[in-house]
Amino acid sequence: SSFEDLHLSESLLKGVYMKRFDRPSKIQEHALPLLLKNPPEHLIAQAQSGSGKTAAFCLAILSRLDLDDSVTQAIILSPTRELALQTADVMKELARYTKATIATAVLQADRQYIDVDGQVVIGTPGTVDRLIKTRKMNVSKVAILVLDEADSMVNMQSLGQICDQIRKLIPRTAQLVLFSATYPLRVERYINAFLRGAPKNEL
Ligand code: AMP
Repeated sequence: SSFEDLHLSESLLKGVYMKRFDRPSKIQEHALPLLLKNPPEHLIAQAQSGSGKTAAFCLAILSRLDLDDSVTQAIILSPTRELALQTADVMKELARYTKATIATAVLQADRQYIDVDGQVVIGTPGTVDRLIKTRKMNVSKVAILVLDEADSMVNMQSLGQICDQIRKLIPRTAQLVLFSATYPLRVERYINAFLRGAPKNEL
C-alpha cells in the first residue's frame, strides 16, 4: 500500500515525502487505520525500534489534532530523555507543513527543555507528571496519550506508576495507545491494569 491509501492530509503527505518515506512500513500500514478509527479506540501494538513505530503514532496524532485549538491535545511519554527528544524531532519534521505546535518536556542536567506550550507535548513521565501537578500544563483537553516503549517503562518500575498517575489526570475519554517491543507477563499485567482505568468497551 501507499501513504496515499492511508488518507493523510496533503500537508502531512508532504512531511512524509520530505523524510523520503516511499511507502508505509508494516506497523504504519496496520496501526494507522486502527488509530484513526472513529470513534477512537485504544490500541496496544507490538513494535521494535526500527519498525517505523514513531512515525506511526506521530502521523495518527497529527491527523487527529484540532489545529484551531492551541490547547494540548496529545501527550507522548518516553522512558528516556534521549528518546523523547528524538521523537520530538520526528514529530516536528512530519508536522513541518502543518500548523501543529510541538513542545518538549524533558529535564536535563545541563539544559532544560521545559516547554508545555504545544498541541502535542512529548516528554518523560516524571517531568510531565510534575508539570501537570504544578498546573503548568493544562491537560483538560488531552484526547490521546501514547506510552512509547511501555516495556521499558515497566522495567524501570516507578516510571510505569507515574504513567498510570498521568492517565488518571487526563480526561477519562482519552484514547490510550501503548507501544511495546516485548510482552512478558508483567508488561501484559501492567497494560491490562492501565487500560482498566479507562472506559470499557473500547478495546
Ligand atoms: P522507529 O522504529 O520509529 O525508531 O524508526 C526507525 C527508522 O525508520 C527511522 O530512521 C525512520 O526515519 C525510518 N522510517 C520510518 N518509517 C519509514 C518508512 N515508511 N519508510 C522508510 N523509512 C522509515
